Amino acid sequence: MRYVSTRGEAPVLGFEDVLLTGLARDGGLYVPESWPEFSAAEIRAMAGKSYREIALEVMMPFVGDAIDRPAMAEMVDRAYDSFDHRAVVPLRQIGDNDWLLELFHGPTLAFKDVAMQLLGRLFDHVLSRRGERVTIVGATSGDTGSAAIEGCRGRDAIDIFILYPHGRVSDIQRRQMTTTGDPNVHCIALDGTFDDCQDLLKALFNDGGFRDRLRLSAVNSINWARVMAQIVYYFAAAVRLGGPDRPMAFTVPTGNFGDIFAGYAAQRMGLPIQLLRVATNRNDILARFFSSGDYRMGEVSPTMSPSMDIQISSNFERLLFDLCDRDGTAVHTKMAAFKQSGAFSVDPEQLATARQVFDAHRVDEDETLDTISESYRAAGLLIDPHTAIGIKAAAVKRPDPTIPMISLATAHPAKFPESVARAVGLRPRLPARLAGLLERDENRVRLGNDFDAVRRFISDNARILRNGS
Ligand SMILES: *Cc1c(COP(=O)(O)O)cnc(C)c1O
Repeated sequence: MRYVSTRGEAPVLGFEDVLLTGLARDGGLYVPESWPEFSAAEIRAMAGKSYREIALEVMMPFVGDAIDRPAMAEMVDRAYDSFDHRAVVPLRQIGDNDWLLELFHGPTLAFKDVAMQLLGRLFDHVLSRRGERVTIVGATSGDTGSAAIEGCRGRDAIDIFILYPHGRVSDIQRRQMTTTGDPNVHCIALDGTFDDCQDLLKALFNDGGFRDRLRLSAVNSINWARVMAQIVYYFAAAVRLGGPDRPMAFTVPTGNFGDIFAGYAAQRMGLPIQLLRVATNRNDILARFFSSGDYRMGEVSPTMSPSMDIQISSNFERLLFDLCDRDGTAVHTKMAAFKQSGAFSVDPEQLATARQVFDAHRVDEDETLDTISESYRAAGLLIDPHTAIGIKAAAVKRPDPTIPMISLATAHPAKFPESVARAVGLRPRLPARLAGLLERDENRVRLGNDFDAVRRFISDNARILRNGS
């Protein structure tokens, strides 16, 4: 499989390079040159197979001959061994025709583990084979950092450095990052805000000499392999409910548009998905786009669902590319307008195309709390605020109520205990695997918001330089 940039100017790459590169050199995102397609018979044959088997089948066309099938199978098996539910992503019935796909049984209790557990292994495999190493640097406001660390800890070819704002992430989030005990994991508590962390990260990547010497790399949500790994659960859920012989609908709590874009990819690959419903909190740039065709940045406003507090959904550019008939120049023009004025719009025909499969709903904070408490009262089910936003949006009138609606549960309720307690008066218990979390030793370094200090810390601790390679 070959990959092209959404802005049409970066070199066409194979899977390995797309994995290691992340952002394309022209500022665009990589997408497959064409969508692999599965026939109805091929999808039908997935019924009854394990999650691991379905994962291998869905992902191999994207990997192509970059990684052989047995090696890929081994990585898939190990990645999903780290989940503490036998079904990996269990499907729970929550209404007559409503289902919840639990994506939070991985090591950090959020759906990002589904992709990160595989990504760390893919990086290590490809790098070891090339005899190379990378230094992964990331900034986090909480969730992404721990999923990235869990995916990369203990891997020979990787050192990982995560910057987070000191005192501004929850105890659980911080401890998930700082207690791994792995020597290739480095947590930096920065005296500053999340935006300071992101600015510093950008500055590190913009320092060309430093970037090349340390072979800096990122595992942020625009990495194609993350989207690829997320396509799998759309197939796995649909075949459990009678797909492809029955259409399905999905509701997805959305921030960066990565998770729901994977659903769109599944549809392009032949899965009969009738509706993909975007659920947003009050940071609703996407909800506004799908109603007006106008993509316009607003102020980010903090909510109980911090992983969706986003006003620029980076993966949206991948959908835009298809809406522009895969014309990179057209995407480039729109993104340039967005950079300049914070807005662009699509024409009515393009909006109509998008609305053939997408719709979107915004859910406010009171509705989120009400949905958490209602779900507990009616069914004894504890859900986290992100999942609640999805469930609330899924309940809005649907074009065809006979089609099963699958809502994605993106985080475990124990990851957001304060909000859950506020709604139901009860703190959800941490799953057994995290039971000792609050007693484990923490390992982190606290640094000022100082480019040179951070840069020096990374140089001093990355194995690339220590080994002189
Ligand atoms: C990251 C995240 C989301 C948003 O997913 P996107 O792919 O960015 O749209 C939703 N819920 C939780 C719990 C997350 O961690």
